Amino acid sequence: MATLKEVLEIAERTNTAIPGFNIDNIEIPEAIMEAAEVENCPVILTIGQGAINAGGLRHLPDVVRRIAESSSVPVVMHLDHSESYEQVIACLRAGFTSVMYDGSHYPFEENVRESQAVVRAAHAVGVSVECELGAISGVEDGISHSNTNLVDLDEVKRFIAVVDSDALAVGIGNAHGIYKGTPNLDFGRLEACRKLGAPPLVLHGGSGIPEEMIKKAISLGIRKINVATEVRLAFMEGLKSAVGSRDIYKMYQAAKAGTIELARTKIRMFQNKE
Ligand SMILES: [Zn+2]
Repeated sequence: MATLKEVLEIAERTNTAIPGFNIDNIEIPEAIMEAAEVENCPVILTIGQGAINAGGLRHLPDVVRRIAESSSVPVVMHLDHSESYEQVIACLRAGFTSVMYDGSHYPFEENVRESQAVVRAAHAVGVSVECELGAISGVEDGISHSNTNLVDLDEVKRFIAVVDSDALAVGIGNAHGIYKGTPNLDFGRLEACRKLGAPPLVLHGGSGIPEEMIKKAISLGIRKINVATEVRLAFMEGLKSAVGSRDIYKMYQAAKAGTIELARTKIRMFQNKE
């Protein structure tokens, strides 16, 4: 297992981005690891609020740990969009190597205060932290934030001066879920964040962003890209394609095959491979 900080250093050196894939069951991380090993790329296995609401922290962290133990590539176990200090602490205990604290919908000063507390606790046990500025719109795991999602550069400057986060998710016109039409990403703002000295930048809502936009974002300092919706769709499409077989293992096989293909495509795109 690796921390987020460790894999983002690799991304920084190679001018690439590491994929953060959401996992909702046991078969999805198995499929993703197969893709990551074939492509020989570090990977972030992300446990989000939906998975925690459905199954708590009882099983998935154990599954990820077992998978990571036998993996030939670095694996990060990451908590997505936590809005609770207490949940972060529970995840530190459950063996996560990275946590995201999302205080972006709180008033700025409160986001700073809470993020500082999370960073202090996580860093005490060697766990990385991702924070967020400029709430990312759309719906994630049933949580919808309707704030505008263009990050304020003055807030970035003030935030990074006092919060020692290892990664920063910024709103630049990206959104969770599936885009209606082509997303309108503010690359100038991305470039400005980097010039201010922000930590490695994270792009949420990576599902459905066209390849050329992804590559441009990476060239401007995006080092982690989250893909959730497309993973779920690939898995479910695979299940549906084999539903007539009435064999649950055939269904899983089809679902995993679709997920592996999707993950490989994203990894290659984020790694700038042809
Ligand atoms: Zn997100």
